[in-house]
Amino acid sequence: MGKVYLVGAGPGDPELLTLKAARLLERATIVLHDSLVSREVLQRISRGAEIIDVGKRCGQKLLTQDEINALLVSYAARHQAVIRLKGGDSLIFGRAGEEMEALRHAGVDFEVVPGITAALGAAAAARISLTDRRAASQVVVTTFSRGTDGSATDWGVVTGATTLVLYMPGAEYAEVAQRLRDAGMPEDLPCVIVSKATTSQQQIRCTTVSGLSSEQQLPAPALLIVGRVAAQKMPQIGAAHWRGEVHEPYPKRPPVS
Ligand code: SAH
Repeated sequence: MGKVYLVGAGPGDPELLTLKAARLLERATIVLHDSLVSREVLQRISRGAEIIDVGKRCGQKLLTQDEINALLVSYAARHQAVIRLKGGDSLIFGRAGEEMEALRHAGVDFEVVPGITAALGAAAAARISLTDRRAASQVVVTTFSRGTDGSATDWGVVTGATTLVLYMPGAEYAEVAQRLRDAGMPEDLPCVIVSKATTSQQQIRCTTVSGLSSEQQLPAPALLIVGRVAAQKMPQIGAAHWRGEVHEPYPKRPPVS
């Protein structure tokens, strides 16, 4: 029985692979990857390796999670090392929990090789210190999902000292802006959109919660960095937010139905 490696591919730039990830890809005989993994990273995989795309295309899953879990277990019986390659880090919005559970259940040995998650790739791209002590004391890594009941995503206690990193913002920025308002965030709070961070097609837009609604949608994958830390990047709109102690929770507003 072989071993499964859950490997983080980082946000796109192959130079951001860990040495360990690069070494595993160079020696791989079988790689199962998501659609988020960049072409440049895929090019690092050993020539003879079998490469299987198990990712999503236009929201349509090529394989279900159960099918992926079963594949990992069955390949582990035939290969010494099975590489499960995911964009960013496997443990952040990567469904690694389900895969690890299936492997444990099947008695397959596995190892997690961390990668640079998109939040950190995007922060580096936008040159924003997520925890700049002058404006933030916590980072909330979260997502925006449209609940069927239309209820607001509960981001817990979001305060003036919170930096919110929003993965999978979806296509409707106006809807995202509304959720941010529902969480009590002020209209003029800085908000940075980073698309395809660390790749050659990277795009960065600086706006505010209110300006977000009229922003043109950037290509996926994209994420949002929302909070006072971003004010340093936008002196024209951010001066009011920069520095000063603001640790009070934002007053939550009831969602608009
Ligand atoms: N495991 C991944 C996240 C998977 S969820 C990680 O750790 O990064 C997919 C979401 O990640 C996308 O919708 C987007 O919000 C974000 N994302 C992934 N790669 C990105 C990139 N290069 N630039 C901006 N956002 C990215």
